[in-house]
Amino acid sequence: MRIDILTLFPDMCRAVFSESILGRAIAKGALEVYARDIRDYTLDKHNRVDDTPYGGGMGMLMQAQPVYDCFQALCRELGKKPHLIFLSPQGKTLTQARAKELSQMDSIAMLCGHYEGIDERVLEEIVDEELSIGDYVLTGGELPALVLTDCIARMVDGVLPNEEAFSQESHYNGLLEHPQYTKPFEWNGRTVPEVLISGHHANIERWKREQSLLRTLERRPDLLDCADLTKKDIEFLEKVKKS
Ligand code: SAM
Repeated sequence: MRIDILTLFPDMCRAVFSESILGRAIAKGALEVYARDIRDYTLDKHNRVDDTPYGGGMGMLMQAQPVYDCFQALCRELGKKPHLIFLSPQGKTLTQARAKELSQMDSIAMLCGHYEGIDERVLEEIVDEELSIGDYVLTGGELPALVLTDCIARMVDGVLPNEEAFSQESHYNGLLEHPQYTKPFEWNGRTVPEVLISGHHANIERWKREQSLLRTLERRPDLLDCADLTKKDIEFLEKVKKS
């Protein structure tokens, strides 16, 4: 899969691509991620990419021309128009399910706004989808694009050792993950739940499922409305609610 990030701050993005799991995935060719500098495409002789908004108001807006020309250059290079996502606090909130769908595409591009945002006309012309990473406002779309890249990348084939490495985690199946423990068995007077060292596979799996259900009920009960629950799960939750 190939991801292209269109930004005024490419170095901010590249710093993240070279590190950790994402860096290793790119190095071994499981994923290609590039940052393209929108400023390289401005026709302004002073290299400007922004101007004041019509109608007044605070701050500066990114202009349509450099954004449009940057995207057209990418389309020419790829020989096709990639699915373009504008990172925006006005978009639909990013979910694990949407990230999973995006991870199955061959090529996606992400557009990062800065300052007060981007001239609406170019957004209407080139953007396929707007995604937000939450109901708050950041100074630019770079961190949201990196969040989205990271979230997608870990579900691309060959990035993590296998599907189990991401499919057992919070949100993948609509629930929060159960608590986890590592060595030593006793730390600061606290021990690990006995069932986890029992060696009884079925009991361990049932404990994990019940903890996951309990945690979701306590912390994010809203998720249970859409989660894929078995009859046994529902009976367990009913029992907990009654107690
Ligand atoms: N004036 C815009 C508004 O009120 O909707 C906010 C602009 S924000 C200061 C600058 C840029 O940061 C946006 O164009 C967007 O690319 C990015 N951004 C800020 N918050 C975001 C969020 N929650 N999710 C995704 N992108 C965000």
